[in-house]
Amino acid sequence: MESCQLALQERFPGLQLECRLDERGILTLSGQCESWEQLVSAGHAMAKQPGIKNVVSEMTVKGMELPRTDYSAHKQAGEAIGVIEKVDVLIIGAGISGCGIARELAKYDLNILVAEKTEDVATGATRANNGNIHPGHAVKPGTLKARLNIKGNRLYTKWAEELGFELQRCGGIGAVTDGRLIPLLEEAYDTALQNGVDGVEIVDAKRAYALEPGFARNGEDKIVAALWLPSTGLVEPYKVAVALAGNAAENGVRFWFNCTVADILHDNGIVQGAVTSKGIVLADTIINCAGLYADEISAMAGDKSYTIHPRKGVIAILDQNRVPYYGSLAEVIDMETVIAAKNNPNSKGGGMCRTPERNILMGPSAVEVPDKEDKSTTPEELAYAMGRGERSGIAYGDIIRFFAGSRPAEFTEDFVIEMSEVTKGFINVGGIQSPGLAAAPAIAEMVEGILAESKALVPRKNYNPLRRREIAFRHLSREEQDALIRKDPRYGRIICRCECVTEGEILDALASPVPPGSLDAVKRRTRAGMGRCQGGFCQCRVLEILARELGCDPTEINLAGEGSNVLLAGSRPGKQVRDA
Ligand SMILES: Cc1cc2nc3c(=O)[nH]c(=O)nc-3n(C[C@H](O)[C@H](O)[C@H](O)COP(=O)(O)OP(=O)(O)OC[C@H]3O[C@@H](n4cnc5c(N)ncnc54)[C@H](O)[C@@H]3O)c2cc1C
Repeated sequence: MESCQLALQERFPGLQLECRLDERGILTLSGQCESWEQLVSAGHAMAKQPGIKNVVSEMTVKGMELPRTDYSAHKQAGEAIGVIEKVDVLIIGAGISGCGIARELAKYDLNILVAEKTEDVATGATRANNGNIHPGHAVKPGTLKARLNIKGNRLYTKWAEELGFELQRCGGIGAVTDGRLIPLLEEAYDTALQNGVDGVEIVDAKRAYALEPGFARNGEDKIVAALWLPSTGLVEPYKVAVALAGNAAENGVRFWFNCTVADILHDNGIVQGAVTSKGIVLADTIINCAGLYADEISAMAGDKSYTIHPRKGVIAILDQNRVPYYGSLAEVIDMETVIAAKNNPNSKGGGMCRTPERNILMGPSAVEVPDKEDKSTTPEELAYAMGRGERSGIAYGDIIRFFAGSRPAEFTEDFVIEMSEVTKGFINVGGIQSPGLAAAPAIAEMVEGILAESKALVPRKNYNPLRRREIAFRHLSREEQDALIRKDPRYGRIICRCECVTEGEILDALASPVPPGSLDAVKRRTRAGMGRCQGGFCQCRVLEILARELGCDPTEINLAGEGSNVLLAGSRPGKQVRDA
């Protein structure tokens, strides 16, 4: 404790910061910082002190009102309704963590409910990421993140096979163009070995060109060596969440959307349930997968043990006309890039990868922000995200969309996955920043293990881990398309021309176990609106189908969450989607 106070004074002289340490090793910092960046640095510095398990920030920033989430209206609404449900397990949040855990636990005879405050699965960090199934070479050895990254990466093969989503084991390759950079490769190789990355190798130039023919195609003729990471993979992250939720629902898990958890009920150190905006849900196990808000939910359970500091990342998606340069996740590192990165860590960099559907993704950037709801994309962040494109001739005109998502980081920069030490029955799944997507299957297994220590888990009869792969008309051969249309002419009606999405696919999504309720939710499941025109042509047609199938007025259809209605009023009687 004294050493922490001394370290604070040494590192931040002139600042009046106080700290207090509890018996769990949780250090709470209070006092005023000069800037948000300084607050984050103070948290990071103290998290590195010996004996500190984690850091909670009660710090303020001079001249800045730090955003606070106000749960009172939801809490009042829920309390007024009273008890509406009693479940065995309540999972908070339907991102990749919540959906993965729900599906893992669905194999047991448990009454499971997932409460998600937005209108669909995968609307938090799970919506806005690069979809990389990282191999595990870039995470700090010895951390929980490292262990779960490696295990999660391996488990993805089983997930993809059982759940029918696209996983491309494209491999990753980092090549250097200067012999002086080989020590960098060796360093990364050593970390990879320490973490247990599968199949990692340092390869010579000849092998590098053979593994990634894109190097030669793109005129990269100076490669001297490369780090080859064959276990690297790619997924569409929201598709994985939809598949997990769908399979969980088929096995009895229920999902409540537009359902905000506003308080946790606990008595004598034992969890009792939660107050949600839809009423009180009693539960003897609560699993907190609330992403950016996990620290707030944990505090509601009487367990203040970490603070989330959002780290925003901007990503730009390019038109499919811009064919990906590489099949693998490839990167060429030259001396210039290394020197620029050393001199200015905020210099243009970003990153370049592709989606399984072969859109290039540029970015992300990484900026600490105080506001968890900050989804702004500044010109500087976009420029950073596009940085790597300059040498490849990529232009802003290639962008079809850019967006921001925030990583839910805590100060030790690791995952926090444990049964609460203060409130039994409350399991934290917090700090799930990158590689949270890659680690998701291992996170789900770890939570299963934690639950098994506190509850007898009885296997569910008739549990079915398999989910039918949905039809993607654009990927079928001409003959398969013809046969499908003959069977059901609705697959012959193209709704989204850019992505070749048919009415049949939208109806399939609507008939699925966790159906979409908004235009964005349809987009996540079918890709309608994901192409060059970004819904300019098809959005109104999808809207008509949604209104028709949901039996509501078109003005009631939302773009995303509640209150984001696309149409304000009808000017003439609505028409159904024309027959082809
Ligand atoms: C720009 C960027 C790029 C990334 N790239 C990668 C990558 O390539 N590979 C990788 O492995 N990882 C990557 N990540 C990290 C990855 O996206 C996250 O680790 C992962 O998505 C976290 O999932 P989650 O389910 O824990 O959180 P989220 O997806 O954020 O889900 C949390 C959910 O909780 C809900 N919620 C919050 N509060 C409440 C409440 N009070 N009541 C009810 N519901 C609530 C939210 O609405 C949300 O849906 C990236 C992240 C970012 C931001």
